[in-house]
Amino acid sequence: MTQSAQLVVIGAGPGGYACAFRAADLGMDVVLVEPRAQLGGVCLNEGCIPSKALLHGAEIIKEAHHMREWGLDFGQPNIDLDKLRGKKEEIVSSLTQGLSGLARRRKVRVLNGYARFTGANQLQIADETISFENAVISVGSEPVVLPGWPEDERIWNSTGALELRTIPDQLVIVGGGIIGLEMATVYAALGSEVSIVEMSHQIAGTADAECAKILHQTLEDQGITIHTGTRVVSVSTSQEGVELTCEGSFGGSLTADNVIQAVGRRANGLKISAESAGVHVLENGIIPVDEECRTNQPHIFAIGDVTGNPMLAHRATHQGHVAAEVAAGHSAALDSQLIPSVAYTQPELAWVGLTLREAKEKQIAAKETSFPWAASGRNLASGGGAGLTKLVYCPETHLLLGASIVGKGAGELLAELVLALEMGATLEDIALTVHAHPTLSETIAFSAERALGTLTDL
Ligand code: NAD
Repeated sequence: MTQSAQLVVIGAGPGGYACAFRAADLGMDVVLVEPRAQLGGVCLNEGCIPSKALLHGAEIIKEAHHMREWGLDFGQPNIDLDKLRGKKEEIVSSLTQGLSGLARRRKVRVLNGYARFTGANQLQIADETISFENAVISVGSEPVVLPGWPEDERIWNSTGALELRTIPDQLVIVGGGIIGLEMATVYAALGSEVSIVEMSHQIAGTADAECAKILHQTLEDQGITIHTGTRVVSVSTSQEGVELTCEGSFGGSLTADNVIQAVGRRANGLKISAESAGVHVLENGIIPVDEECRTNQPHIFAIGDVTGNPMLAHRATHQGHVAAEVAAGHSAALDSQLIPSVAYTQPELAWVGLTLREAKEKQIAAKETSFPWAASGRNLASGGGAGLTKLVYCPETHLLLGASIVGKGAGELLAELVLALEMGATLEDIALTVHAHPTLSETIAFSAERALGTLTDL
C-alpha cells in the first residue's frame, strides 16, 4: 500500500504532535506516524505526566506529615499502590485520548507503526510506503544504559521506576540529574530509604550551585542520602538484592532491593535509516539542525530530543511549531537560549538563561542578586521551607541575563522571569512592577530591589 502526504511527522511526542497539529492548522495534508498505541510519546506515557501525578501524591504525603507541627495530625498515610497506579494511568489515558480526538478533528492521518526512511522522499512503515514532500523527525530519545551492568528486573530505568510496581525498602538511584532527583522525591515520600549516587560534585549539575545546594540539603533533611563525587565501579546481584560498589567521595558498597539508572538519555537518530534519505546523524544519535529545525536535507526537519540537549518537552513543542511553519512556507526560527529547566522535586528547582558560573565561562560581565525565602512572609505562612530567588544581570545596563529559583512552586514562579528575559527586561522593570502581597512572586521583585538598593524587606 502507498500513501502520500505533504508532511510526514515521525513520532508523536510533545514535539511531533504539536508539529503535526500546527501544520494541519496551516492547511497542510499531514501524516503522523507513531509505534505506540497512544499519542503523547515518552512525556505523556512514561515521563513528565505520570511522574507529576506521583510527585503530587508525594507532596500531599509530605505536607500532611509536616502539618503535625501546626497541630493538624492526619495520621499515617494508608498507601494503596494499585489505586495510586490506577489514578496515574487514568490521567495519562485521558490526555492521550484527548490527543487522538484533536488529531481526528484536524484530519491528521495517524499511522501506527515504526517508520524508516527508504529514500529522500519515502518512508516504509511495515508493508506500507509513504511518499512525502517534507518530513519531520521527532523520534526522541531513550534512557542511557550503563555498560557492564547485569540484566535484572530489580534494576529499573525511568520507565520502570514510573510503573510503580513496588515500594522498595532500600532504593539506590544512580544519577542525581532531574530524573534521579524526582524519583528520589517520589519513593522517599512513599517510604523507601533512598540513596543517590552522583558522579559530579553537584546534583542537578547545570543549575546554579547555591540553589542546588539548598535542594541537596533539603532532600537530605527529608532522609535522602546523597553521595556526590561518587561512581559505581561494579554491580552484583544476589537473592538479598543488588549490590553496588562505589568509588570517590563515598567509597563503599550499597545494597538495595531496587536500583534506578538515571544517567541521561540518548537520542534515537540512528534507528530510522536516516542515511537512506541522506540525513546526517552524529555517532551519538543526535541529528544536527539549524534554527529553522532543518537537517542537512532542506525538506527534512528534526525536532525535540533527537536534536540534542536540552532534552525537554517544551523545547520540542516550540521546535515542532517552527518546523511546521517553515514547512508550510512561513518564516519562523527558535531562539534556543531561553529554555527553562524545572526539577519538580520538593522544593522545586527552576532556572533559565545564564547562571553566574556560565556568564564567567563565556566572559560575559555579570553580577547576581538574591532574596532568601526565610524572609518571605508568604513562604513562612504556607509552611514553605528553604528557598532562594536569584537573578543574574549585567552590572552596567541592569539587563536580566538569567534566573534561578529553589523553593515551593519554583517552576510556576519562573515563568515571570522567562518572559522578562524574552522581553529584555532590566532590574528596574522587575522592581517597579507591582507584585501582589503576600505572594512568593514578591521574592523576584525583592531580588531586583536588593541589587538597586531600594529593598526595605531585608
Ligand atoms: P541528566 O543528564 O539530567 O542527569 C544525569 C546525571 O547522572 C548527571 O548528573 C550525571 O553526572 C550523572 N551520571 C552519569 N553517569 C553516571 C554514573 N556512571 N554514575 C553516577 N552518576 C552518573 O539525565 P536524567 O536525569 O537521566 O534526565 C534525562 C533527560 O530527561 C534530561 O535531559 C532531563 O532534562 C530530561 N528530563 C527532564 C525532566 C523535567 O523537565 N522535569 C524530567 C525528567 C527528565
